[in-house]
Amino acid sequence: AEGEAILEVRGLTKRYGGVVAVDDVSFTVPAGRIMGLIGPNGAGKTTCFNMITGAITPTSGTVTFLGEEVQGRKPHVGAVRGLTRTFQNLQVFSSTDVVGNVYMGRYREGRAGIIRGMLGLQGREQYRNEEIARDLLDTMRLGDVAELAAGDLPFGRQRMMEVCRALASEPALLLLDEPMAGLSGKEREMLASLLRALRDAGLTIVLVEHDVAQVLALADTVAVLDDGVLIAYGEPEAVRNDPAVIVAYLGTD
Ligand code: ATP
Repeated sequence: AEGEAILEVRGLTKRYGGVVAVDDVSFTVPAGRIMGLIGPNGAGKTTCFNMITGAITPTSGTVTFLGEEVQGRKPHVGAVRGLTRTFQNLQVFSSTDVVGNVYMGRYREGRAGIIRGMLGLQGREQYRNEEIARDLLDTMRLGDVAELAAGDLPFGRQRMMEVCRALASEPALLLLDEPMAGLSGKEREMLASLLRALRDAGLTIVLVEHDVAQVLALADTVAVLDDGVLIAYGEPEAVRNDPAVIVAYLGTD
């Protein structure tokens, strides 16, 4: 239900030899909210994502997804229960058409109903994977390029296509790793309003993003990592004015 914790991270820690990439990080993401995860280069954002999805095993700490501890379990364990992520680098099947790239996201059973609800397909017995893929492309103004080879799209549109693919899996929790990178101002606006619409439809989103202004404008809560440590966590307004955050971004001590 809305407001209940869908993701809870407690004491999450990852060491590589003497390097503590993520150091005792805890946060809770309520259902139906957007959390922004920000921080300077090397702060530990991607390592956090990788521990949440199970791509890497934490040195210590827990990741609870939908009431079940998932740390150290293979990524497909979370995936089948509705945890979907995108990657910082494009993961595109270049010679496959755009619609094909999107419906590859529909590989699993037992999807959350949020996306069908948003597209107005809820309650319909018959829907085709391709139909959902095309509807998603339409929401991102990509309907007209559905038949093109994905590799022929400009970078920004390939990124938007990847968001469509992630949505095609009908996630309960969507982790986006720098979705705004390489997008034009107009594309950023379009993506931001799609993410708001998804949040309003009940989707929970965690967003790693370098564009701090976008995150502060979009997120309901913001977590700030610096050198593996969670230095601030709360509403955007409070985080924006937090002296520790200002220092981290100015790069002074
Ligand atoms: P960026 O914004 O540059 O993507 P980030 O916040 O995602 O950075 P991470 O990639 O999580 O940061 O890296 C955090 C720290 O952990 C860095 O100091 C990095 O060098 C280190 N690190 C990450 N992965 C490994 C690894 N496999 N072995 C050793 N050190 C690692």
